[in-house]
Amino acid sequence: MTLNMFDLTGKVALVTGSSRGIGSAIARGLAAAGATVVLNGLDEQRLEGARVALAAEFGEERVRAIGFDVTDAAAAASGINWVEAEVGPLDILVNNAGVQHRVPMLDLDVEDWERVLRTNLTSAFLVGREAARHMIPRGAGKIINVASVQTDLARPTIAPYTASKGGIRNLTRAMTAEWAEHGLQINAIAPGYIHTEMTQKLVDDTVFNEWILGRTPAHRWGTVDDLVGPAVWLASAGSNFVNGQVVFIDGGMTVVV
Ligand code: NDP
Repeated sequence: MTLNMFDLTGKVALVTGSSRGIGSAIARGLAAAGATVVLNGLDEQRLEGARVALAAEFGEERVRAIGFDVTDAAAAASGINWVEAEVGPLDILVNNAGVQHRVPMLDLDVEDWERVLRTNLTSAFLVGREAARHMIPRGAGKIINVASVQTDLARPTIAPYTASKGGIRNLTRAMTAEWAEHGLQINAIAPGYIHTEMTQKLVDDTVFNEWILGRTPAHRWGTVDDLVGPAVWLASAGSNFVNGQVVFIDGGMTVVV
């Protein structure tokens, strides 16, 4: 038995929110497994910087970029159409773009609630729907939604984030209910506490940092590279009968109290 079922050579993958952080590491991992990757983000300059850096490793042909706002239905449709026309049929979509907003619920504005829900959850519906419209007629496609330990566990001050990531679990199931019969596999990866720009403030907070280390059986923060293996697996033929699952990559945090 060889490992070539994990080979992504010739596949086209779009990773939303891949100009930095987790999305950037997943895009790099998919490229290392052979895929042609399309990066995405909002800030055009940052996106171009990420494209140039990854293209230096894998070549201009295999690293493309398209900036669009994942919360905008029309922009999501034209972004996916651009990928299909300019890069090739989309095989793999990673719905990774997301934001955090830390405020106690009693002080939380509805605009911020809606912004987080739109960016973390509605975006996966919008971009996923456009991708599925192309994948379903071809009878194949992989969609990986990025969940979180907050898919399972709440914490004070991050209500909209927790609600959005809980929603990602059931959106993954809803997509499976409607699209699995057309040959698509839709799953989610749920990263634990990963050291990125989004969590830098928490890493710098010594009390919180100690709490994380104590609360995590693996006794460390995750790294973006910890997510690459599971992402490649769920993007590859190695997961062809894995449907609607949330895979926690959290050093064991969600299995202990
Ligand atoms: P970062 O803040 O480092 O990066 C976020 C990315 O999303 C950026 O590329 C940003 O683009 C992009 N983005 C944000 N809003 C939009 C939008 N409306 N349209 C297009 N792109 C957008 O985040 P992380 O890498 O930390 O997180 C990535 C994902 O992983 C999120 O879904 C997050 O919830 C999840 N996650 C993170 C964990 C962690 O510990 N860091 C743990 C569990 C889950 P731009 O640069 O242009 O702003």
